[in-house]
Amino acid sequence: MRIDKFLANSGIGTRKEVKELLKKKRISVNDEVVTEAKTHIDEDNDFVAFDGKRIEFKEFLYIMLNKPQDVISATDDERHRTVLDLLEEPLTKVGLFPVGRLDKDTEGLLVLTNDGKMAHELLSPKKHVPKRYYVELKKTLSKEEAAILENGVELETFTTKPAKVEFITEDKVYIIISEGKYHQVKRMFKCVGNRVLFLKRTGMGNLGLDENLAPGEYRELTSDELEQLQ
Ligand code: URA
Repeated sequence: MRIDKFLANSGIGTRKEVKELLKKKRISVNDEVVTEAKTHIDEDNDFVAFDGKRIEFKEFLYIMLNKPQDVISATDDERHRTVLDLLEEPLTKVGLFPVGRLDKDTEGLLVLTNDGKMAHELLSPKKHVPKRYYVELKKTLSKEEAAILENGVELETFTTKPAKVEFITEDKVYIIISEGKYHQVKRMFKCVGNRVLFLKRTGMGNLGLDENLAPGEYRELTSDELEQLQ
């Protein structure tokens, strides 16, 4: 495989950007600097490095981000910081986008990928992927109100599907929903006369947010985690 293709596919940058990196002598193959885009490499056996750091060949990338507040789930925005602004080079250059959205003031698990097919499948309403949220409420929640939320409440344009509420305390709960409508969790609690003060997504499918990731931190998904998500 040509080195420029290998580098672009592995998430180092576009073909054009990769050419620049080669020109700047930042790429090596088996410890020898390589500058020609058309150089052929053996992707299974050669040791390819960017600034001395090994590059593994990957078709797609999957990132687990602990989204902090005050950052929007978009790829670019004129006024606000986006989740892509949290990433470091070369991850900024590989076409990553968030799988779904969290509100600006919501924290927690957000998967970023450049695998459009996987994102599409994960977001498909037909798949009913459960999403788990940790919620801090303004007022205490009664068992009856929790049951109303679990059975489904009428929002302006639709009735929510069955959900699950797990109490931590009377005003701190987990809620698990299988949909992802606009502001859904906040609207559901509003429906029973309460208000969400803090919201954090802690899980999606069988994938749990890595508690070692502080808000704003991220890491690649392991292959096991990727399987759990699909
Ligand atoms: N529900 C909300 O209200 N906000 C989110 O960010 C996610 C789910």
